[in-house]
Amino acid sequence: MQCGAYIGRFAPSPTGVLHFGSAAAAIASWLDARAHQGQWLVRMEDLDPPREVPGAATAILAALERMGLVSDAPVMFQSRRSQAYVEALEVLRSDERVFDCSCSRRSLSGHVVYPGTCRQSRRMDTRHAVRFLAGLGELAWLDAVAGPQQFDRAAIGDFIVHRSDGLWAYQLAVVVDDIAQGITHVVRGVDLLDSTPRQRMLFEALSVEPPQYAHLPVAENPIGQKLSKQTLAASIERADPIELWREVLSFLGQVPPEGRTLASLQTSAVRNWNMDKVPPKSAVRNAWMD
Ligand code: GLU
Repeated sequence: MQCGAYIGRFAPSPTGVLHFGSAAAAIASWLDARAHQGQWLVRMEDLDPPREVPGAATAILAALERMGLVSDAPVMFQSRRSQAYVEALEVLRSDERVFDCSCSRRSLSGHVVYPGTCRQSRRMDTRHAVRFLAGLGELAWLDAVAGPQQFDRAAIGDFIVHRSDGLWAYQLAVVVDDIAQGITHVVRGVDLLDSTPRQRMLFEALSVEPPQYAHLPVAENPIGQKLSKQTLAASIERADPIELWREVLSFLGQVPPEGRTLASLQTSAVRNWNMDKVPPKSAVRNAWMD
């Protein structure tokens, strides 16, 4: 692989069908990759079996394909990546960047930030979580859509990288896999902006340069909730792909694409793609958000 080349990704969780917001993230990440002559990879974030919906992974991949979006490499499934997460956790442990934590959810209720209870403790119940030591100091970077970002490590606090039920936490898995796939650019919804400082801390602890980030406006329903399975957002599975592309491009502040076929419309959208035009909050509304 050419050094310095662009590698982007779309990383859905198979907890339901694709809705307009996830279609926008898929299209924007694909366009940004293509506009940089880069690769676009799909990663299925199937880390949390209790939250997964049978058949959702297959349905998501089929919906992407209908939209003309096909991963440039075989789809990575996080459910098959445990060994890589174990190895990363060993690195963090040998560098004393993590500690075991047996605090119950109840004992932490009322705390916005983890109070540090288990930082010094050595005796653990068999069931315990593993937390990353956030430490002190500021984290600052520039997001291509959301602008300058600044976070205080202490205000984020020590966060979980391995859950007490044995499941891997999203924060660790996403970073280990972004590193494994050589991801250089992350384009995703602004609902994940709060996760970015945690992920940047993990990149730093694993001595890897973090990717560049662009956090897209999030599509909301009329009462201001992010579209999701929980808010019963409409599935885009049966949408006309050309209509859907047009609506997504309008939502993302792009010039209307030309072309009657999906392929010609995609070519036009790549040619005109301009991340600087993506608004941090989109004023565009459409029927998918009702
Ligand atoms: N799997 C996450 C989600 O569907 C997205 C992860 C990411 O893009 O970093 O919300």
